[in-house]
Formats: sequence, C-alpha cells, structure tokens
Amino acid sequence: MSKIKILPEILSNKIAAGEVVERPSSVVKELVENSLDAGSTKIVIEVEKGGRSLIRVADNGTGMRRDDALLAIERYATSKIYKDADLFTIGTLGFRGEALPSIASVSKFYLTTKAEAEPAGTEIIIEGGTIKKVSDIGAPAGTMITVKQLFFNTPARRKFLKTVNTEMGHIADTVASIALGWPGVQFRLIHNNNMLKNWSAVSDHADRIVDVLGKGLHGDFHLVDMSSDHLEMVGWLSSPSIKRSTSRGVYVYVNNRWVRDRVVQHALFKGYEGRLMKGQFPVAVLFIRVPFDQVDVNVHPTKHEIRFAQQAKIHDTVAEAVARTLRMADGKQWTPASLSTIQPSSNQHRIAEAKTHFDKTEAETVSIKKDWPNNRGTPILWQTSDPDDFSPSAVQQEALWTKKRFGELRVIGQFRNTYILCESLDGLVLIDQHAAHERILFEQLKSRAATSQKAAQNRLVPEIIELGYREAKILEDMIPNLHELGLDIEPFGKNTFVIKSVPALLENKEVTPVVIEIVEKMAEIGFTPGLEKAIDECLLLMACHGAIRANQKLSDTEIQGLMNQLDQCDVPSNCPHGRPIYIRWSIRELEKSFKRIV
Ligand code: ADP
Ligand code: MG
Repeated sequence: MSKIKILPEILSNKIAAGEVVERPSSVVKELVENSLDAGSTKIVIEVEKGGRSLIRVADNGTGMRRDDALLAIERYATSKIYKDADLFTIGTLGFRGEALPSIASVSKFYLTTKAEAEPAGTEIIIEGGTIKKVSDIGAPAGTMITVKQLFFNTPARRKFLKTVNTEMGHIADTVASIALGWPGVQFRLIHNNNMLKNWSAVSDHADRIVDVLGKGLHGDFHLVDMSSDHLEMVGWLSSPSIKRSTSRGVYVYVNNRWVRDRVVQHALFKGYEGRLMKGQFPVAVLFIRVPFDQVDVNVHPTKHEIRFAQQAKIHDTVAEAVARTLRMADGKQWTPASLSTIQPSSNQHRIAEAKTHFDKTEAETVSIKKDWPNNRGTPILWQTSDPDDFSPSAVQQEALWTKKRFGELRVIGQFRNTYILCESLDGLVLIDQHAAHERILFEQLKSRAATSQKAAQNRLVPEIIELGYREAKILEDMIPNLHELGLDIEPFGKNTFVIKSVPALLENKEVTPVVIEIVEKMAEIGFTPGLEKAIDECLLLMACHGAIRANQKLSDTEIQGLMNQLDQCDVPSNCPHGRPIYIRWSIRELEKSFKRIV
C-alpha cells in the first residue's frame, strides 16, 4: 500500500486553520473582511469572553443564496477570483477561499445569510468541520456568522489562548485597524454585552482617524497627500512632538488592505529622520494605492504581508513625501538636523526643564560636599588588578566602582555636553551623564517604593490621557501599583484617565508620555499586579524621563552633585538598562597608546 495519502478534507481544513486562525482576533479579521468585500455599510462585532466562547459578525452586505452559502464553506471556494490573471489584479480583501472552512473546522459555526432578492434566508450549522444542519430561516438581507467555542476540538491551541483581556485587546486592535481604513462603514464592537466602540460612518476620513486613535491627537496630525505615476498616497502623520516607544501607532494600508510592510515602515521612519530619537516612533496612518499588478498580496495565508514589484521606488517616494510634509509643517523654523536629533527650540525647552528638576533632586537627596573642589583630601588610588590590560574591561570597571570614589574624581569638564570628563590618580574617566542620573533616580525610586515613601506631587492642572482599549485595560489594572510609586491616576470614563499626582522627580515634566510608555511596555511584557519586573520597568521609565539628558550643559555644582549621588548607588557601574555608566583608561594604557612605553 502506498505510504502517501491525500488528507481528508476536514483534516486539511484544520491544518489551514493553523495558519489562518491564530487566535480569536484572526477570526474577527477574516469575517469582517468578508463583510467589507460583500459591500456592507454596517458591521457589528459581538464577542464574549475575549472570543473564547463567542464571536459574531453581522453585516448588511449582499448576503448569499443557499447554493453559494454551501459553496462558501468549501475549501478553495471563492467568488472573488476566477482565472489565473485575476490573482494579479486583486481588489478584494479575500481571495484564497480558505477562511470560512478553516474557521468552521475548529469551532461550532453558524452561518445565517440572505441575499436581497431571495424570499428566505439560509442557516448552516457546522461543528468541527462537519455539516450538522442546513435549513431555511427568516433573516434580514446580509450575513451573520457566529463562531462558538473556538478551538474546542484542538485543545493544544485552546490552551495557548491568553487571558480575556489580552485576546480582547487583539480583537479591539484588529477592529480599530480595519475601521481606520473604512470611514464610510459603521463598526460596532460589543464585548460581554457592553458596547466598547461605535464608530459611525463619516464622510471625512480625518474624523474616523481621530475617532479611532483618540481625540488627544486632534490637531497634531499633518496631512500628506501626493500622487506620482506609480503611487498615490494619503496619510496622517503625527507631529514629531508626539513620540511613542513602539511602532504600534503606525498603520499602513495598501489598496485598502491593512498590512505590516517593512518597506513602507522603513520609508516612514526615514521620512522622520532627525526628528525622533532612536527607539521613538510616530503615530501615522498611511493609505497607499498602487496598480493591482504592482503588488503581490498572496505572500502569506493571513494576507497581512505583501510584496511590491518595485520596492525601492515605493520606499523612496514614501520617504520623500513624508519628509516633505513634515518640513512644510515646520514652516521656516526647520533646518535639516545632522548631529542633533531634536529640534533646537524644543531642545532648549527640555534643557531648562530638566535643569530645574536636577537642582531639586540634588537638594532633596544629597548634601553637596562643601570643600569641593579645592580642598578635598586625598583620593584613593584606583589600582586596577591588571595594569597591562589595555581596553577598559569589565574587571577594571568593577574595581573602580566598588571603591565608590566618584565624588573624589577631579572633574575636567563636560565633553559635548553629554559626558563628564574626569581625572583620577591613575587615569582618565568618562561618565555618561544621562546613564548616571538614570541609575541614581532608579535606585532612589526603588528604595522609596520599598519603604512606601511616595514623595508625590499633586498636579495643579491634572493631565488627561486617552488610551486605546487594550492600553486602558492595562492601565486600569495598574492603578494600585502606580499609586504605590507615587503616580496617582483615576479612571475618567471610557478609556480616559486623569493624572492627579506624580512622583517628585517628574514634577516639571509632561507625564502623559511616561504613562503611555509604561502601558506600552506592560502590553509587551504582560502585566500582572505585583510582578517585580513590571514594577522595575515602571521605575525605569520614570527614571529615564526624569533624568538629565545628553546635550545638556551642567554647572560644576550639578556635576559634583551627580558624582556624589553616584557614590550612594548600589550599582554605579551600569544604568538600569544595562548600559555602562563610565569608561576609564589607565595612565598606562594611554602611555602605551602614545608609545611612551612599550
Ligand atoms: P475568500 O474571502 O477568500 O473568498 P472565504 O472563505 O473568506 O474566502 O469566503 C468564501 C466566500 O464566501 C467568499 O468568496 C464570498 O463569496 C462568500 N462570503 C463570505 N462571507 C460573506 C459575507 N459576509 N457576505 C457575503 N458573502 C460572503
Ligand atoms: Mg475571506
């Protein structure tokens, strides 16, 4: 008997489901895309328990006649392409004919549909890929698909489902991403009988963008609108003052399909070059249109990735359009930055801000050595274990800081307003001022948190912050923990919060970016109350925002305060992210380099 067999259909559908249906949000994506392909103007998405027990998508689209409905649940059955050539001119979201049979093979699946002209609707019930019932049913024109107990017959996958909040977060993200691209369609998202979102149809695309991404961004977007012979693009770009720590605020649509595309993303960031620092991302929504035959959408089963025929051309056009739009928005103020990555005006502002704050921390926590710099006693000689070791090795670094004598270094000055250059008895030391201050603040915050000394400052004008569904849920869970850290936040209805008081070190800062970064970080690592790593991450972000920056001129007193505080730290060798705080060269190393000795 032959060893090779053709798989039974149910099994092959289940295998396809492995690719197409990764989690509840994938079901939502496929069903909503089908509704859009069917010309719907109203789509209602109802979910229970994060999609574990129920996902229902109802639309007012074309609906299906019974024979079509029966075909629709067959593998490779699609109304969207007919012949070879169609594959290269795809204008619909679906075309692979896999979604419905895949979903039906791993759930209890109910399809109710009626085409406008038909007298009655059709109901089809499928369980784990087997058709249980086909019957007439009274129904309005359109289609309603209900998916119950997703993965009930694939326990391994069901086990991989995350918490209700996490899965619901993915679903809300999916619906939001699709809704961004279809302003003329009304979307409603309901979870456990609560209406989470109701985006009504709007004629102005900008209204939908603000509806979905939050009113907080209103007025902070610049419109990019261009067309060339190979590409048309309309988009909304956040002004560089809006910074996010992940690229999650970037939405790219190619021929109305929401995609993750590295070429476009890269081009977008390139367009922002010089305006955002490394690790900072804009918020942007880009709609790109290219001729259908210039893009391959059949690269991945989830159709989330695409390939452009002329990648380089697309890249350069997008980057240039983004750069030009931002340049125009700057008006005359803007000069392309080469070295500095921040606009001069905002840089000045930050410096002033950070400086006041620096003085405060200093006064608050450290008594500055009075006899500095003239009369400071004999510094301890930092002898490294191996003076012949040339590069500043880990061993040497350790030898330096375990003696804790930063306060006794002679400060030569500031290098590029970023590094503090010092002399020790046996060498030269460069200290990264931001890394050092970050370490100091981190440890201070940590010890205060441990002893429940909050040192919170009330805000005179409370900051209001509006978040996406998933972020709002995370922040809600974090409120008690953040309170312990001196950050008092209260829910303010919907996904809005008000920041009542902040830790002293953030007193003169805008807190919204810190909170957004904290929440984004938690979305990434998965927040559970009391999780030490999560608390540390919060402290770390607060320290990072509170710390003096690179490119900031410091006074002698400030520098000395910093050095003394560094001596109070448990780990003055590295910043809390793990970067080194200082580099040191021994005289011997230097003399060897200058060939004074061999
Ligand atoms: P694809 O979208 O790739 O064609 P699907 O398995 O998602 O494959 O759907 C199969 C077919 O079922 C579609 O081609 C379409 O004709 C029909 N169909 C699916 N959902 C709907 C809907 N909501 N309204 C009308 N027709 C639908
Ligand atoms: Mg489809």
